[in-house]
Amino acid sequence: MNLDKLPRFRLAFLPTPIAALNRLTQKLSGPRILIKRDDLTGLAFGGNKTRKLEFLIGEALATKCESIITGGAAQSNHCRQTAAAAAAAGLRCHLALSGSEPDALTGNLLLDHLLGAKIHWCGDARKGERIPDIADQLRAAGESPYIIPYGGSNAVGAVGLVEAVRELADQIRDPISHVVFASSSRGTHAGLALGARLFMPKTTILGIRIDKEERGLPFRTELAALTNETAARIGVSEVFSTDDFAVDERYLGGGYGVVGELERSAMRTLAETEGIVLDPVYTGRAFGGLLDMIRRGSLNRTDSVLFWHTGGTPAVFAYSNELLS
Ligand SMILES: *Cc1c(COP(=O)(O)O)cnc(C)c1O
Repeated sequence: MNLDKLPRFRLAFLPTPIAALNRLTQKLSGPRILIKRDDLTGLAFGGNKTRKLEFLIGEALATKCESIITGGAAQSNHCRQTAAAAAAAGLRCHLALSGSEPDALTGNLLLDHLLGAKIHWCGDARKGERIPDIADQLRAAGESPYIIPYGGSNAVGAVGLVEAVRELADQIRDPISHVVFASSSRGTHAGLALGARLFMPKTTILGIRIDKEERGLPFRTELAALTNETAARIGVSEVFSTDDFAVDERYLGGGYGVVGELERSAMRTLAETEGIVLDPVYTGRAFGGLLDMIRRGSLNRTDSVLFWHTGGTPAVFAYSNELLS
């Protein structure tokens, strides 16, 4: 295994803390619930993308690129962390964001500006579809940008989540039956699944999907392919097929970024019971799914569940209407 030999640029304060949600466990008469605080990775409000970016920026620097381009939604947590990571590494940052220049800057978008990113408004292209065109324009103008795909979800980035499971395995004493988290562009899911196979083989890695597939191959097909590429990148011979993943698609609600009662109520529950803030798009939805599974009895008192808080909290400031309704 060559996990320790890949280029890496340190950005996060690691290990991130783990806390026991004792009041919540008691309130639900449920399983033991722990939380892994990747919202506290420390890079410009934190989040799971910081882990991918350590390896992505490491690669960008190793290949002597002077700028970065990535893309996503206007309130993308990934883009905000990329802007911060680029600043920390002394690289220019271009962001291909969906929509058009709004009148008021808030949440992640406000931070993108503060962090000095150059924003390219891309209409309805929400998943960085215009990155290749913009990269061409930049090259024509003499720049050689390092391309980070939507969500930082390629094998280079997913390695960061393999490393995260090694970190977790070192932190815990009692076994964990399930790790539950928000799964979207597959990089986190791939890295955690491979990491668990290597370092915590008895733990189920359960991803709660946040986003419907709009085009391309089925989620599990892409997920298995990415996990296998990630295994190859770190030099292990593990092989995954589409059945090797636990994926829950029941909580997609009104679609990506549409906040409903599931998310609102999950955010209030964790905030009021434990003083911890979730985000409305990812962790609010995934935690709502976890609470629902506990209430339905599909996770029981003998289980020990770790919720991976993947960050996203700056987005709360962009969703005040939805959160207060
Ligand atoms: C990006 C993101 C996720 C999902 O990670 P993927 O690797 O895209 O699946 C989960 N939570 C938050 C807060 C995110 O920003």
